[in-house]
Amino acid sequence: MTIPTPLPPGRVYLIGVGIVGRAILKAHIDARVSCWILDQSSEAIQHAVDSIQLDTHWQFGTNITLPDGTTGLELIHNDLRQPRDVSIVIESIVERLDVKRSFFANAHDWFGGEAILCSNTSNLRITEIAEAVQDASRFAGMHFFMPVDRRPATEVVRGELTSQTTIEACCDHAEHIGKPPLVVADGPGFIVNRMLSPYLNESLLLLCRGTPAEQLERAAEIYGMPMSPLELIDYIGVRTMFDAGRAFWQSFPDRLSPSPMLAGLIKKKRLGRADGRGLYDYAKDHRSADLAPETKQICETYRRHEQSLHDSDVVELLSIPMWIESALAKRDGIAKRIEDFNFAMRGGLGFTADRPWIDFFDEMGSERITSAVDRWSDITAAMKAPAELLHALEGQDPSQAWREFE
Ligand code: NAD
Repeated sequence: MTIPTPLPPGRVYLIGVGIVGRAILKAHIDARVSCWILDQSSEAIQHAVDSIQLDTHWQFGTNITLPDGTTGLELIHNDLRQPRDVSIVIESIVERLDVKRSFFANAHDWFGGEAILCSNTSNLRITEIAEAVQDASRFAGMHFFMPVDRRPATEVVRGELTSQTTIEACCDHAEHIGKPPLVVADGPGFIVNRMLSPYLNESLLLLCRGTPAEQLERAAEIYGMPMSPLELIDYIGVRTMFDAGRAFWQSFPDRLSPSPMLAGLIKKKRLGRADGRGLYDYAKDHRSADLAPETKQICETYRRHEQSLHDSDVVELLSIPMWIESALAKRDGIAKRIEDFNFAMRGGLGFTADRPWIDFFDEMGSERITSAVDRWSDITAAMKAPAELLHALEGQDPSQAWREFE
């Protein structure tokens, strides 16, 4: 039924239950937090409901329709701790500034002036989305990572006008659903996606230069990543990766040459794990051992500069761009402490090693980083490092050089 807005106060509203929205819903269900789910597609609502299992403590509330036709449903847990003081709205709709802005332009009317509004954008600037929000002090980023059930962190993003009260409310909520927050400043990709974009793009460039998928997977594991970068692309979804990659490239055009693979996959409707077909094929949620035959054909279309590489080369080409990007993000003030980047790598990307992420580079050593940059930076943009950062590597460990780079 169409119900009057603003919607009831003191609730959790999850807007957009696509790939990541469904995973965020599951995090709320696992934490026994009642929530409303809303989506412009009623099939998406149905798919979300079908994807979760509710025990007898749960019941369905009212079906609703908002003035623009967005439909929704309340999921109620009989937990006395609810409802909350103020509503919290977490938006996970398509990664386009115009679409997010037009949603948030209505948020005041739909959820009331007291609600805390959050966007789960991966790459758009919070401050830019906030231009559409009536009270930008109540607006922040709350960024989750796929696969959400295996990534125990969120980034809480402070826009230029976000108030401290809003940051605290977001952090409390993130803790409440078991996703400890890392508060970061606003900037394209924040920390995690900023580091992830050159890494994932590099894996696709290497694939088109003839590096076998098994070697990419092996190199990622040597580095300390929990899965192949190609499999992670399938988890994230190829379209979302494409949007995120474009947003990164628009902000940092010198930092990568976009691989044509994502566009090729979209053309062939190989959209990722949620569709059962991406770079790999998926049957009953199990990944095929090898890339899908059609993916190999797409690769052939974009094949160039074939090179045979050792595992150690592939490790350098995947890992060093992340180290460079983290230093640039620090220089931009997204976060200042190396501990924040270690936390982001572990909690956001599942870095598995039993030592902090930065130690990987100290073990690699400054000389090897410098010579890898020298060797590869003409071939791939993500290996280009600022002269001051290379200068800082002279005679000291990469972690110390990172700290000194401003
Ligand atoms: P998706 O396309 O799978 O899902 C988007 C959902 O939003 C769809 O169900 C769609 O029907 C709905 N929608 C679109 N416009 C809407 C509107 N105006 N009102 C209500 N519902 C609307 O996309 P996704 O991969 O889940 O990504 C969603 C957002 O989350 C993007 O901003 C993305 O960058 C971000 N994100 C994605 C990931 C990931 O790994 N996929 C991780 C973190 C953040």
